[in-house]
Amino acid sequence: MSDAIPPTLPTELDRPAPTAGVRAYGATSASAPLGPLTISRRAPGPRDVQLDVLFCGVCHSDLHQVRDEWHAFMPTVYPCVPGHEIVGRVVAVGRDVRTFKEGDLAAVGCLVESCRSCAACHEGEEQYCAAGATFTYNSPDSHLGGVTYGGYAESLVVDEACVLRVPGGLDLAGAAPLLCAGITTYSPLRHWGVRAGQKVGVVGLGGLGHMAVKLANAFGARVVVFTTSPGKVEDAVRLGAHEVVISRDAAEMQKHGGSFDFILDTVSAVHELNPYLDLLKRHGTLTMVGAPETPLPVSAFGLIFGRKRLSGSLIGGIPETQEMLDFCGEHGITADVERIPITKINEAYERLLKSDVKYRFVIDMATLKT
Ligand code: NAP
Ligand code: ZN
Ligand code: ZN
Repeated sequence: MSDAIPPTLPTELDRPAPTAGVRAYGATSASAPLGPLTISRRAPGPRDVQLDVLFCGVCHSDLHQVRDEWHAFMPTVYPCVPGHEIVGRVVAVGRDVRTFKEGDLAAVGCLVESCRSCAACHEGEEQYCAAGATFTYNSPDSHLGGVTYGGYAESLVVDEACVLRVPGGLDLAGAAPLLCAGITTYSPLRHWGVRAGQKVGVVGLGGLGHMAVKLANAFGARVVVFTTSPGKVEDAVRLGAHEVVISRDAAEMQKHGGSFDFILDTVSAVHELNPYLDLLKRHGTLTMVGAPETPLPVSAFGLIFGRKRLSGSLIGGIPETQEMLDFCGEHGITADVERIPITKINEAYERLLKSDVKYRFVIDMATLKT
């Protein structure tokens, strides 16, 4: 019999006190502009990685949640510190962390925890965790109470299991949007088996849409962009589209009737879905990733004739996010970004609402400290 003292499991009591006074940017109500705030972060536990945030992308979901537009599905708790497209530098690791060390580059996307025991978690689809995944912001925080705070902040502490490796050679500001816009488009393209020779539509050329164009093109598909913005046509072609349709032109739309294998809808606002169902081939699939705040009417006949599928997709799990990052590393794919200082965030939100984004705003987080 061994007389060794069993190792003590870490408890909350063993943890150092949280770090208070962490600089961040967020909103205190649905109608308030974002402004400087201070928040607390937990001290890194044994399995935690602490990052200094270098860049954080600006997703339209940040805007939806800051303004509580998704109230019916996930009400926003204030203060709200958004941001889930995070690239940073590791500044501390807990004693059990194996894959990261101080000084490494690392990334965090939309997920920071899940139950790890349900079927979805076992299958690497933590975003669909039966117990409810913990999202990077506006989710219950099991460590400090209240809600999680995102990447519009100087630092972040995340369990190693949800920290991703950034492939070498990618521009770091351009890599940040891969953590949401990249995986949210990669996952459904992969799930529905998009491949060479297929005709793929991308509706909306914003942050998600422009990543979908790059990825579908890299998968060998024939890519058609549907945009409401005539000023984006040349860019769409440069990004990898083979054809561009102004979606408000009904005659242009009709030319593509019954011809698509797959269409990815990335539109953030209320819009018509039925015209896109008409563009699908028999057995074709329209997947929604855009998340307008109110339901969109769907014609049963549009689905019945041609046995078409209408589906949805939420971000992507941790293993698939790493797979996507590695794919982007191999193919040199990053987002086309407009770098902004944190003080321009409210202006950036107004521009998102006008579809004036080319094609992702990324906050240079060094500007939070100046
Ligand atoms: P974004 O950069 O603002 O792009 C949205 C694009 O939609 C616009 O650039 C515009 O493209 C088009 N659009 C805007 N208003 C429109 C209207 N009234 N009618 C038709 N088209 C319109 O937004 P994003 O960051 O890519 O996000 C897009 C949506 O996906 C948001 O609802 C966001 O919350 C959601 N999202 C979902 C997931 C998920 O897991 N499912 C993850 C991330 C984001 P054109 O100028 O080309 O028309
Ligand atoms: Zn997002
Ligand atoms: Zn789970």
